[in-house]
Amino acid sequence: MKASQRITTLLGGGSDGWDVFNRAREMIANGTPVTELTIGEHDIRTAAPILQDMHRAAMAGHTGYAAVPGTTHLRDVVAARVQSRTGVPTSRANVMITPGGQSALFAAHAAVCDPGDTALYLDPFYATYPGTLRGVSANPLCIRTRPEDAFQPRASDIAAHAKGAKSLLINSPNNPTGVVYSRATLEGIAQVCIDNDLWLISDEVYDTQVWEGAHISPRALPGMADRTLVVGSMSKSHAMTGSRCGWIIGPEDIVDHLINLATHTTYGVPGFIQDAAAFALTQGEAVETEVAAPFRRRRALAKKVLAAQNAVALVPAQGAMYLMLDVRSTGMTGEAFANALLDAHHIAVMPGESFGQSAAGHIRVAMTIEDGAFETALRTLCAFAEGLAKAA
Ligand code: PMP
Repeated sequence: MKASQRITTLLGGGSDGWDVFNRAREMIANGTPVTELTIGEHDIRTAAPILQDMHRAAMAGHTGYAAVPGTTHLRDVVAARVQSRTGVPTSRANVMITPGGQSALFAAHAAVCDPGDTALYLDPFYATYPGTLRGVSANPLCIRTRPEDAFQPRASDIAAHAKGAKSLLINSPNNPTGVVYSRATLEGIAQVCIDNDLWLISDEVYDTQVWEGAHISPRALPGMADRTLVVGSMSKSHAMTGSRCGWIIGPEDIVDHLINLATHTTYGVPGFIQDAAAFALTQGEAVETEVAAPFRRRRALAKKVLAAQNAVALVPAQGAMYLMLDVRSTGMTGEAFANALLDAHHIAVMPGESFGQSAAGHIRVAMTIEDGAFETALRTLCAFAEGLAKAA
């Protein structure tokens, strides 16, 4: 029996970009310690008070089917949060709770793209994007951004591909680059969306991790609330990756359709998880600042280490838990550099090429290990790059 084309072509052929990561895991399994700077997950776990609330909710009986759109309480809490952060009037009717941001990305595209519709996204991209777009039978079209623009997308580059497209997916703060889109960038993107009648899907799962500048939600820009679907998540803001709790914010009629979709796919998110998410969100910003603090600290450490050398250049690290490092001075591709670093020093990083073509000659470093080990690994990485650059 044959599986569907949709499922068999989900990965699009070729390498999935995880070769270095897989090789590192193999080395670890064979007993060689590896410093892993690959994965976008906190080195802390979900805080005890959130887990206690989850336990309380479960013991109180919130273990049956929960309301498919999300509990009214969590939808209200999320709506209030979005409204207070963006100034855009937002109510429960604009919110659907999803099992994490990933399923929200899938549902958002299912809601606006018909099979064969062109769905635009930007390179470098979060690894799952093209597969998510193929998963809804859209036709993914990738638009490159440029290292010389610090990976801020150019509206003119998007406009050149926007005619006839249905949607544009953006992500700020950005994984993998750590770049936060400026107001000018977002205004340019908004204008392209309006001019070409595009839906904008705005992945804002890193909105609490901003080190420089400010996070602007494009839904707040003039004319955008009716054509923007915002994807949010508890994963990064509250170290709740395993709880699988996120949301989509959008116009009421689209949210109604999304609820139909959820009825026929996920059937909602467990009530005790939603109760814990509402509890976490109502603890205020101090909790979010605390969860983000290790990355803020390590970014400062990295800036200090990188300032003392010139073989490796840092793409402005304005947000999210990653550093994008330009290693072109070594004359190597990101992939060759990552493989050589793994072999020589047992340090695993992601090649820029794992995220598309625009970040070729770069590597992505996740700031997800303890400060001392992180600083040591970064010093080793820089010394290694300096040696290669001299020889290049
Ligand atoms: N978007 C981006 C840019 C991400 O990096 C991730 C997770 N690494 C997600 C969405 C999905 O996160 P989750 O499903 O845990 O909310």
